[in-house]
Amino acid sequence: MSSTTTDPTEYRDSDPLNEPIVPPAEFLKADEEPVESQPKTKWQQLKKRFPHGVNWGVTLWLAAMHVAAIFAFFYFSWAGVITFFVLHFATACLGVTLGYHRLLTHGSFKVPRVLEFFFSCCGIISGEGSPIFWVATHRKHHALSDQEGDPHSPLEGFWWAHFIWLQPAKSNEEVQQLLTRWAPDMWKDPMHRFLHYTYPIILIASGAAIYAFGEYVVGGQGLSVFLWGFCLRQVVVYHGTWFVNSATHVWGYRNYKTRDQSRNNWWVAFLSYGEGWHNNHHAYQRLARHGHRAWEIDITYAVIWTMKKLGLAKAVQDKVPSNKSSKAKAA
Ligand SMILES: [Zn+2]
Ligand SMILES: [Zn+2]
Repeated sequence: MSSTTTDPTEYRDSDPLNEPIVPPAEFLKADEEPVESQPKTKWQQLKKRFPHGVNWGVTLWLAAMHVAAIFAFFYFSWAGVITFFVLHFATACLGVTLGYHRLLTHGSFKVPRVLEFFFSCCGIISGEGSPIFWVATHRKHHALSDQEGDPHSPLEGFWWAHFIWLQPAKSNEEVQQLLTRWAPDMWKDPMHRFLHYTYPIILIASGAAIYAFGEYVVGGQGLSVFLWGFCLRQVVVYHGTWFVNSATHVWGYRNYKTRDQSRNNWWVAFLSYGEGWHNNHHAYQRLARHGHRAWEIDITYAVIWTMKKLGLAKAVQDKVPSNKSSKAKAA
């Protein structure tokens, strides 16, 4: 696996495909911290990362899902395995990458309202937070990637970027500030506000529904279907998303010279339905298409392309800038 840049192409800052929905410039000053507050010792660093302690709700939930995921292998059933794969696609591809990421965070295409609701619900069942919370966090990542203020840069440690960044508790004011600053469009939207407040109810209800499906529809397989379709599936989807935050800012090749450390990584792309082409994405964040070269397979874009052909997706940003290949040769 290459960790160096070969012949990267300069992307254009002024390109509309790299313009975020919420412009970051006016927010940067407020997010900066005074130099004197920078931590010096390890303890100060830890305290700075956990100023309000640990978010035990998140930490215990993630720990419970990982333990239950191991138990799944002792409660095997084919119904459980099929539920795992169907819900993996529904939550990781339709929910997180297509819905939360390309549709809601970046506005790479438009869909009818009912589909926006459906994809948002698929994302909620992934257990990665409410749509507004996920979108706000990710827009902040793009604005400050691999700089001070990036929610999950591996420059602060690989495991920090992978999952530890989720553990610190946040005050209500901090959460409110994050949501209204970085996702004001969604905060104003009653549907998304409703989904934000009902997120834990929908997530837990989905677990109950999965158990009931195995127990009463399949017949007596409730525990197995629950462990495979809810717990193990969530864990696998978590790590697919988390590797985008950690691995694709560390390992892989670069097609574009971006201001951050983003990389294109084939195995993360495999695990996350095309999200591993992360350097392409940081260069042109509005593009619905993350795979820019022939071998950069992007399943999520294939779904968006199909929706476009069916008339379900409109205003699809799918034109990879044409000067790219000529610039690559010239570099
Ligand atoms: Zn990134
Ligand atoms: Zn993004």
